Amino acid sequence: MARVALVTGGQRGIGAAISEALKAAGRKVVANYAGNDAAAQAFTERTGIPCYKFNVGDFDASVAAIAKIEAEQGPIEILVNNAGITRDAMMRKLTRQMWDDVIDTNLGSCYNTCKAVWDGMSGRKFGRIVNIGSINGQAGQLGQVNYAAAKSGIHGFTKALALEGARNQITVNAIAPGYVDTEMVRAVPPDVLEKIIAKIPRGRLGTADDIARGVVFLTGDEADFITGSTLSINGGQHMY
Ligand code: NDP
Repeated sequence: MARVALVTGGQRGIGAAISEALKAAGRKVVANYAGNDAAAQAFTERTGIPCYKFNVGDFDASVAAIAKIEAEQGPIEILVNNAGITRDAMMRKLTRQMWDDVIDTNLGSCYNTCKAVWDGMSGRKFGRIVNIGSINGQAGQLGQVNYAAAKSGIHGFTKALALEGARNQITVNAIAPGYVDTEMVRAVPPDVLEKIIAKIPRGRLGTADDIARGVVFLTGDEADFITGSTLSINGGQHMY
């Protein structure tokens, strides 16, 4: 039986590439999304991957939706926490709401979804969890106090949960992407983007497929001895 994989934010951007790569690797993939119904519908039509709409920042909604997914699709054995948002501002203009939104969506979501699958994975003695961090959580970034805090929080979360999961063959790893060519990055003004690319030793932005390949690797059955790690996929921009 194909293992069931849930990819949060899995119908757009990096998440869509992860969903498709996991499907190509033989997984039964389910994608989550927040509100973009048109993208979700088009994605399902194109790939056959079902999409479930819920807010990963909301604990009760996440637990209820994951119970529904498991009833309809089977137990989740692979979880990819990819959903994320930015609400950038310098500290002077960073509101409490912008802080809460980013922490809840990027970091609180990891607690919400992991909590919902943890007992099942522990009981079955198998699990693969990958949390998507960011180079900006490792290195910091101007105007991203909220985002950097959430993403660097993911790295501590990953290591601590990996220690708990080890005895039950649950691996927990993180991927820290560098700058990837998605809508999030295309929103950056061209002159700023040029300066960013100039700082990437490989001389280009990453692609969503570059990140997806890392997820397939870390979620393979044979990746059993890799846990608590952060895989940096950033073209050499920040060696951490
Ligand atoms: P996109 O903005 O392209 O896609 C974000 C996805 O997350 C969408 O599917 C969106 O759903 C979903 N999402 C957002 N909020 C929620 C929520 N509350 N509940 C459920 N789903 C939600 O992002 P990217 O593909 O660029 O980024 C993916 C991940 O990679 C993020 O965690 C990001 O921080 C990280 N990252 C990205 C980098 C980049 O260069 N792009 C660099 C480093 C890290 P919907 O379509 O419904 O809005």
